[in-house]
Amino acid sequence: MTTLEDRSAGLREQLRAWRRHLHMHPEVGFHEVETARYIESQLRELPGLTLSRPTETSVLAVLKGQKPGRTVLLRADIDALPIQEENTFEFASKNPGVMHACGHDGHTAILLGVARLLSEHPEEVSGEVRMIFQHAEEIGPGGAEELVMQTGLMDGVDVVTGLHLNSQLPAGVVAVKPGAFMAAPDMIELTIQGRGGHGAHPEEAVDPIAVGAQVVTNLQHIVSRHVGAQDALVISVTYFQSGSTHNVIPDTARLMGTVRTFDPELRQKAPGLIERVIKGVCEAHGATYDFKYEFGYRPLINTDWVAEELRQVALDTVGEERFRVAKPTMGGEDFSAYLEKAPGAYFNVGSGSEEADSRWPHHHPRFTIDEESLETGAQMLYAAALRLGAGEPEPR
Ligand SMILES: [Zn+2]
Ligand SMILES: [Zn+2]
Repeated sequence: MTTLEDRSAGLREQLRAWRRHLHMHPEVGFHEVETARYIESQLRELPGLTLSRPTETSVLAVLKGQKPGRTVLLRADIDALPIQEENTFEFASKNPGVMHACGHDGHTAILLGVARLLSEHPEEVSGEVRMIFQHAEEIGPGGAEELVMQTGLMDGVDVVTGLHLNSQLPAGVVAVKPGAFMAAPDMIELTIQGRGGHGAHPEEAVDPIAVGAQVVTNLQHIVSRHVGAQDALVISVTYFQSGSTHNVIPDTARLMGTVRTFDPELRQKAPGLIERVIKGVCEAHGATYDFKYEFGYRPLINTDWVAEELRQVALDTVGEERFRVAKPTMGGEDFSAYLEKAPGAYFNVGSGSEEADSRWPHHHPRFTIDEESLETGAQMLYAAALRLGAGEPEPR
């Protein structure tokens, strides 16, 4: 196995330098102005790339290979989160209240590394490789949707791939699976309208807190009694706000939550099932309600043959002992938007280790990555670009 060090002098150090610069200067979705400028400036150093800005804060680099083949899209997300970093290393965030707590700094560094490897050896590249540094993964409706719907990014793309670092997997491990991989993250909002009154006389009021509590518990009956155990469904009420003091029954209660599914049919049924419970409980207790169900990103369903190609790439790149069949997760990802337009698959690269203290969950103020994972990610994505590009293009 040739390492990146053999292929490309100093790339290992360069990957770390890119990641640390990005980590130090995080920006949230749709505001990645300096991030996009930095990415573009680094890509300008590389020969043979055509650069453009599909949107204000996204960057596209295109490399034409010297052999015929497919058009492959590689995607890295570049945005950070509104979190105050608690890490104290020297490259911790310089932007108060903003932090790369999901590993997108790593994804960006990895794709820059892949751009460098590809541009050094265009004679090995088949077809065309499009590298999209995508803005705003963390904020719905998401940067991917904008790129897919409002730019020509996907025109002529035969296959798409990308990766997410995963702190819950050991650094250097690669995990792929065919089929359903990540859930659709939908949102619910509910206002229960009761009738306020004195806390001593609930019989003269309609208590929206008591009704809301019934709604919260009854929603779990959908999960346990209306949907089969083989069909994954999560309903979590994550916000419940009502009242102002100890002796006043309030008028209203506000609830919010998240609904996660894989199956498109169950997803379409979910709003009706949820509203039926809300309506029944509210009517039973004399309250009225206002209910909103908002569809978020689509579920991320990997195309079987692309997942199989990635499994082969992983076996060639990291070997059997560092390969895992990925477990599906109820988390969401706007990578699913690309899969509406072309076959593709998304995979995980482990970034957790004791030595790097990088097992904190994603979105935690102490989140960080074991930087060994940068090299694994770059090797995987580079090899994937070569292998996927070498196939027959889709007939059009
Ligand atoms: Zn995230
Ligand atoms: Zn993420």
